Amino acid sequence: MTSDRTFVIVGASLTGAKAAETLRAEGFDGRVVLIGAEDERPYERPPLSKDYLRGEVDRETVYVHPEEFYAEHDIELRLGRSAVSLNAAGSELTLDNGERLRYDRLLLATGAEPRRLSIPGGDLDGVLYLRSVADSDALRGRLDRGGAVVVIGAGWIGAEVAASARQRGLEVTVVDPLTVPLERVLGSEVGAVYRDLHLDHGVQMLHGTAVEAFEGDTAVERVRTIDGRELECDFVVVGVGVHPRTGLAAEAGLAVDNGILVDKHLQTSAPGVFAAGDVANAHHPFYGEPVRVEHWANALHQGPVAARAMLGQSAVYDRLPYFFSDQYDVGMEYAGFARTWDRVVFRGDPATREFVAFWLTGDRVVAGMNVNVWDVIDPIQRLISERVAVDDRRLADPDVALEELVPADAGSAA
Ligand SMILES: Cc1cc2nc3c(=O)[nH]c(=O)nc-3n(C[C@H](O)[C@H](O)[C@H](O)COP(=O)(O)OP(=O)(O)OC[C@H]3O[C@@H](n4cnc5c(N)ncnc54)[C@H](O)[C@@H]3O)c2cc1C
Repeated sequence: MTSDRTFVIVGASLTGAKAAETLRAEGFDGRVVLIGAEDERPYERPPLSKDYLRGEVDRETVYVHPEEFYAEHDIELRLGRSAVSLNAAGSELTLDNGERLRYDRLLLATGAEPRRLSIPGGDLDGVLYLRSVADSDALRGRLDRGGAVVVIGAGWIGAEVAASARQRGLEVTVVDPLTVPLERVLGSEVGAVYRDLHLDHGVQMLHGTAVEAFEGDTAVERVRTIDGRELECDFVVVGVGVHPRTGLAAEAGLAVDNGILVDKHLQTSAPGVFAAGDVANAHHPFYGEPVRVEHWANALHQGPVAARAMLGQSAVYDRLPYFFSDQYDVGMEYAGFARTWDRVVFRGDPATREFVAFWLTGDRVVAGMNVNVWDVIDPIQRLISERVAVDDRRLADPDVALEELVPADAGSAA
């Protein structure tokens, strides 16, 4: 019988909410406590740089569950409350109001937080970051007033904010030290597609330089770059990556290395303690090494796997990494995980912004991305997970269905 057991989840966002939902769906009838530092019930972050930021959808659309869901499922939702210390040996968590909470199983779903720039002027009013719905509301207020924005960083957040700001009619300048947007993940060839997309929409793209200081009296008025440019602006958005929130785990002595280290069952180095979502650096059976990604789909699917593992089921997280992005009228999906590759093969002309790109090592696809081409993500994932040997010419040929490249009898390697 489970009814006298307490399962605690720290982090009331997508990972935590899906884990709580799964505990109940699997029939767990003990106590479920979901603790969230934010005042909002769990919500999804992708809209915060896209349609929600632009004011095209209302607040209700971003929540993971309707308000009544938590009470209806007897999930104790503690909002505006932080867990401040963990005693893993004693199975006890301390909250910021001094309350001590004993648990039988604990899930750490503490996510990630934006990396802050510590440069002169970094604290000026109008230097904004984007992680929470409150951040998105503040940024939307700025977009409503119009003017000029400088976006620091051409990663996913920076690129999506730049697109949304242009769509709202602002003057937008992007500053990034690499040669094209999204270069770290996509490489220079595919990153160039996004550079041209932003250029075509009138964004000033300043690559190969970096911000040195923000200047202004009390609010930011200009951005100074290391190559001596002075960019006048009304506000700044900084999107230079995130840090996994590992403090609680690290102070409790759990193994931490680029996130909380967990095995394929999402179990940490402490018995009974699990971690999932952006904060987890999870051993991936397909890659044979720890993988930590900051993707919506990872939060969506790891939460339920962690919940099942907490219940003692032999749940394993082995999905390939997957993410999506929307900028202007260009949508994409990306599957796989490629730190290195030896070439990129295109199916379709990237200049048309309707194509599929494959990253290859030897004769194997290690990642694939469909841009404004839909219903192909399944065969792309199978090419990767089944380690299919491919021929570049057939891969590039749109007359050869991707399904044809995956042998019907290919055994799943993932
Ligand atoms: C603006 C934006 C746009 C995005 N767009 C996309 C996209 O298009 N595609 C995509 O794949 N991914 C996207 N992502 C990434 C995706 O949203 C994240 O991967 C996902 O939110 C991770 O969920 P999580 O639950 O693991 O962590 P988080 O969403 O970071 O949530 C963690 C929660 O834990 C709480 N918390 C932390 N520490 C404590 C504590 N000690 N006590 C109590 N509570 C605590 C935090 O307050 C937070 O609410 C985007 C992210 C952002 C910010």
